[in-house]
Amino acid sequence: MKNTTLLVFSAHAGDFVWRGGGTIAKYIKNGADVHLVVMSYGIRGESNDLWKIEGQTKDGVREARKAEMEKAASILGVKNLEQWDWDDYHMYIDDNRLDRMVRKIREIRPDHILTHAEGDAFNADHELVSRKVFEASVLANSAGVQIEGLPHTKQQRIFGFEPHQTEISSFAPEVIIDITETYDLKRQAMECFQAQKHLIQYYSDRAFMRGNHARRCSGNQDYRYAESFTRRFPYVGGEFV
Ligand SMILES: [Zn+2]
Repeated sequence: MKNTTLLVFSAHAGDFVWRGGGTIAKYIKNGADVHLVVMSYGIRGESNDLWKIEGQTKDGVREARKAEMEKAASILGVKNLEQWDWDDYHMYIDDNRLDRMVRKIREIRPDHILTHAEGDAFNADHELVSRKVFEASVLANSAGVQIEGLPHTKQQRIFGFEPHQTEISSFAPEVIIDITETYDLKRQAMECFQAQKHLIQYYSDRAFMRGNHARRCSGNQDYRYAESFTRRFPYVGGEFV
């Protein structure tokens, strides 16, 4: 992980924590260069508990979500954080926004991109971000797409978060990452999100369940907690791993 650059695109404020927090913390802990882009705060679609407070406003929700997210990112060890504050539910990504994503990829030049998986049955924003990150990567990698000062990048590996309703979204794990060493950090980061308290137990249970799958698939009994992802392109190497 030491010489690895990881770029994370999270549609909303909490997504990177619920679905990839243990892996992100693990990469940082082991010396990777990790960059996080939070595209929206999820003010409209992913802040239901905050909207139950009487007299709540959009600015009030933004402030709360921003504070929660920054605290969670800092617990995971994230130093490079960009907040784009786009509207959510439904998010739109026009050519200007796509261009911003392309520039970000060329600026960071990641080995891996972590974002949303292609299918997410109840979340159109997640599916949009998945598609647009892929499009942005294709443009970033194309020599003919010329941007002054930002030469084209080489093919990244793209991994997708496990969606919330796994089976309903036709999701099957393609990569399982052991997060035993950073699970405590993930738990602490999840506890920052008072706007989505109901998810803390849900994603604790899932990390435990994927830990079981990690042991079963690998034979390594030290794996206690894990996160799973899609993998957009096949593994390529000189041997089976
Ligand atoms: Zn989300």
